[in-house]
Amino acid sequence: MSTLFISDLHLAGERPHLIQAFIALTRNEAREAEALYILGDLFEAWLGDDAVLPDLVPVIDALKALTKSGVPVFVMAGNRDFLMGEGFEAITGARLIDDPTVIDLYGTPTLLMHGDTLCTDDVTYQAVRAQVRDPAWIAAALAMSIEERIKTAQQMRAQSQAHTQATAEEIMDVNADAVTEALRRHGVRRLIHGHTHRPAVHELEIDGQPATRIVLGDWYQQASLLRCDESGCERVSTSQHKR
Ligand code: MN
Repeated sequence: MSTLFISDLHLAGERPHLIQAFIALTRNEAREAEALYILGDLFEAWLGDDAVLPDLVPVIDALKALTKSGVPVFVMAGNRDFLMGEGFEAITGARLIDDPTVIDLYGTPTLLMHGDTLCTDDVTYQAVRAQVRDPAWIAAALAMSIEERIKTAQQMRAQSQAHTQATAEEIMDVNADAVTEALRRHGVRRLIHGHTHRPAVHELEIDGQPATRIVLGDWYQQASLLRCDESGCERVSTSQHKR
């Protein structure tokens, strides 16, 4: 048995082939898995549990079918889909998990994060993040009409793109001290996260002990999957995906 991790799918109607790739995952590899963890940004945008875009309905149905088949699905909110709530859990059967969460992964305590909170050098981003995670901001957003929410999401996306273009790559990557601090605080030596779209396995040393930071890949061009079992974790290439 194995446990699967994915993140940063950014599913949206404009990328139907990736929606299809996700549905294929839920029908094939994920059916054999002990659990599926989605570590943020499953959706390009989530406008609220009461406002599921028609293009995303097949994704919801695929998640529902997977959880109904008996495979637990755990979903962490990312910076794109942080408006997911109990309604999302109800329509998918998936369970929302906190960022951060520590799980026992075949005997190795493993810290799961979306990853954006580790990008502490990006002060502008962190300020925006704090603003939109404020309960009052969320309540105001969810009180808007669907049209207003779509407009707001588009504005935020445009601002984010302008910021990304104007900001150095290394500023938008994780801060090494933030990584060390997170591993230390949770007393673990393995971290799995997404968000940066820089898939890699980083071997670290913290307080004289080896530690590992696994970064998940995004799905902009192709599906990207991490499979973990008793023997460790391995990245699964898309060529191995059953279609
Ligand atoms: Mn993200």
